[in-house]
Amino acid sequence: MGNPKAFLEIHRQEAGYRPIHDRIHDFGEVEQTLNTRERKLQASRCMDCGVPFCHWACPLGNKPPEWNDALYKGNWELAYRLLTATNPFPEFTGRICPALCEKACVLNLIEHEPTTNREDEAAITEAAFREGYITVHHPVRNGKKVAVIGAGPAGLAAANALNLMGYSVMVFEKNEAAGGLLRYGIPNFKLNKEIIERRMKLLEEEGIEFQYNKEISELSELSEYSAIIIATGTPTARDLNIPGRELKGVYLALDLLSQQNRVLAGMEFAKDERITAKDKDVLVIGGGDTGSDCIGTAHRQGCKSVTQIEIMPKPVDGPVDPKNPWPNYPRTLKTTSSHEEGCTRRWNINTLEFLGKDGKLTGVKVQEIDWEPNPNGGRPLMVEKGQPEIIKAELVLLAMGFLKPEHPQYPENVFVCGDSQSGASLVVRAMASGIETARKVDNYLREK
Ligand SMILES: Cc1cc2nc3c(=O)[nH]c(=O)nc-3n(C[C@H](O)[C@H](O)[C@H](O)COP(=O)(O)OP(=O)(O)OC[C@H]3O[C@@H](n4cnc5c(N)ncnc54)[C@H](O)[C@@H]3O)c2cc1C
Ligand code: SF4
Repeated sequence: MGNPKAFLEIHRQEAGYRPIHDRIHDFGEVEQTLNTRERKLQASRCMDCGVPFCHWACPLGNKPPEWNDALYKGNWELAYRLLTATNPFPEFTGRICPALCEKACVLNLIEHEPTTNREDEAAITEAAFREGYITVHHPVRNGKKVAVIGAGPAGLAAANALNLMGYSVMVFEKNEAAGGLLRYGIPNFKLNKEIIERRMKLLEEEGIEFQYNKEISELSELSEYSAIIIATGTPTARDLNIPGRELKGVYLALDLLSQQNRVLAGMEFAKDERITAKDKDVLVIGGGDTGSDCIGTAHRQGCKSVTQIEIMPKPVDGPVDPKNPWPNYPRTLKTTSSHEEGCTRRWNINTLEFLGKDGKLTGVKVQEIDWEPNPNGGRPLMVEKGQPEIIKAELVLLAMGFLKPEHPQYPENVFVCGDSQSGASLVVRAMASGIETARKVDNYLREK
C-alpha cells in the first residue's frame, strides 16, 4: 500500500465521457482516459483492506489492491502481471464491466467514492499493449484435443485457459468473426472492435485455432475431440407477441445492434433490410442495458426522439439499495452515457398493441400500471391505472432480455459454460465461467 493516507486526501475522479455534442455523431468509444499522474493518484486511494471485498465481488477474483499498489508506484508491468494472473482479457472488462468490485469497495461506504478499479484496469492494459509487456506463450502440447463451441467471452476464456495448459483447442463459431455479444451486441461506442481483433491475433499466435461461419448442430460432428465445451450464449431473445407484432418497424434489439456493428465493420445491407432510426420516433421496450445500447445507437443513426419504457417500477434513485446493501451490487437506477444523450424514461408501463398503417408501425398502445402485493403471496399483481395511451413511434426495439437455454443430460465429456449455462449475465461472469470450466475439463481429462 503506497500512500496510507491518500483515501483521506484524494477524491475519486472518473475520466468521464467525451462531450455529447462531440460523441453523438460517431461510434467511437465515449469514455475518456486520465493522464498518468491522475491515474496514479486514483490508484493510491486503495486502502489494501484486511478483508478485501473487491476480491470477493469480482467473479474472476481479481485483486485490485495488488495492482493498484504497483500502479501507484509506477510499476506498470508488474501491475499488468498481477492483473492478468486472474483476468485473461482485462481490455474487455476494463471497458464494459459494471465493476462489481467498486460497489463492494470499503471506500464506497464513505460518501460513495470507491476506487476506480475498472478504469485502472483499462489503463494498465493499454499501457501493457503500448509498452510491449505482453508476451506470446508457446505452450508445450499434451496431445489432447478439445473443441469449444462459441467464440464469445466464455468460449474464448475457456479456450485460452486450456491452450495455456497444453491442450490443442479448436473453436467453432457460427458468426463470421469472434467475440459473441462483445462484437455483435455491445455497440462500438462502448467497445471498439479493434480491441477484440488485437486479442484475437494474440490467441491465434498462441496456437488456438478458429473455424468461422461454422455452426455446430450435432455434437457427433466433434467425435474426434476428447472434450467439448458448449459456450453458445443465449440465442433466443424474449419477444412480445401482442397484436401488430408483424408490422414493419418492430424489431428485436439485437437485430438493430448486430446490424449496426456489422455496418461499421464494412458489411453492406440492402435498403429494405437495413434497420435505421434515422428521422424516426423510437420506442425502446425494456429498461436494461440492452435497451440503453439501443438508445445510444438510435441517437447516432439520427433519430428524432427516443423513449424507453419498462414494465417494472423505477428502481431506487441513489447509490444505496436498502434491499441489497453493501457489499452487494445495488439494484439502483442506472443512468448510462446513452441516457445522458437524451431520452424519455418511463416505468410501470405495459405494452398492449403495436399500431400501424399499410403494414408499417405508426405507434404503440401502452397502459400505465401499478404493482400491488399479492394476497396469496408470490409475484405482485399488475393493476391498470387510468386509460391506455398511444406513444408515436416508427421504430420499436424489443430489449426484454433472453430466454435461459435448456440443456439435456450430455455425455460426461461435454461441459456448458457462460450465458448458455447461467442465462443472460455479464462478460466478467462469462469469462469466469469459461476459466472454471476449463479447470473441470482438465481435471476430467487428467482422471481419464
Ligand atoms: C446488447 C448487449 C449489451 C451488453 N452489454 C454488456 C456490458 O456492457 N457489460 C457486460 O458485462 N455485459 C454486457 N452484456 C452481456 C454480455 O455480453 C454477455 O453476458 C456475454 O457476452 C456472454 O458471453 P458468452 O460467451 O456466454 O455468450 P455470447 O457472447 O453470446 O457468445 C456465444 C457465441 O456462441 C456462438 N454460437 C452460438 N451457437 C453456436 C453454434 N451452434 N455453433 C457455433 N457457434 C455458436 C455465437 O455466435 C456467439 O459468438 C450485454 C449483452 C447485450 C445483449
Ligand atoms: S473485472 Fe469487473 S469486477 Fe472484476 S476487478 Fe475488473 S472491474 Fe472489478
